[in-house]
Amino acid sequence: MPEDRPFYLAQLKERLQYYKEMGIDGLSVTGSMLKPSSLSQSERESLEIIRADLGDCQRCKLCSGRTNIVFGSGTSQTKLVFVGEGPGADEDAQGLPFVGAAGQLLTKIIEAIQLTRDQVYICNIVKCRPPSNRTPEEDEIAACSPFLFRQIESIRPQVICCLGAVAAQTVLGTKTAVGKLRGRFHDYRGIQVMPTWHPAYLLRNPAAKRDVWDDVKKIKALLDELG
Ligand code: URA
Repeated sequence: MPEDRPFYLAQLKERLQYYKEMGIDGLSVTGSMLKPSSLSQSERESLEIIRADLGDCQRCKLCSGRTNIVFGSGTSQTKLVFVGEGPGADEDAQGLPFVGAAGQLLTKIIEAIQLTRDQVYICNIVKCRPPSNRTPEEDEIAACSPFLFRQIESIRPQVICCLGAVAAQTVLGTKTAVGKLRGRFHDYRGIQVMPTWHPAYLLRNPAAKRDVWDDVKKIKALLDELG
């Protein structure tokens, strides 16, 4: 049935991504193959459907320690998506991304390019808080990232800003250090990706704020150019 098409496409993409993350190269899953440029907005899966599919997720061990699933916040009608690593204590308590100290800094970063949090979409690689805020493990990222990729395909922003190594490496499918990736645009299925330092890193290393300012200025310039 035609109305089921986005749903089955999303399922297919999720499965292909899963194979890719398992290291199966034989399927040759490339960005251009998976870029659903022919799908109009009404054909795309909505964030509500993706959230409903996530349900009371038990797909990885992070579920046992969470208070709330942190799905994402902001608007789906946006040109800019920020992707972080995973919820911390404040985010876990409130069910919202980037609401703690790092989140306050992210708010300032967003406002520095004349946007508000309501005008962008903010989400994370994993949707449940890792214990003691440790880095998410590979199996947790593999279980959760298909939902992030579906969120991105649902929104189809012009730009994704990846905050920190876990976000940049997961979205770009690389192990390259964020310090080497940041500062220039990369491609993710036809979407421009700007990796930059994580706001929590900036709290510990304020001198790196200059880099982030340079990076977000490039994002603003591109958004202005693309209109
Ligand atoms: N750090 C993240 O990566 N994500 C959040 O939501 C909060 C802090």
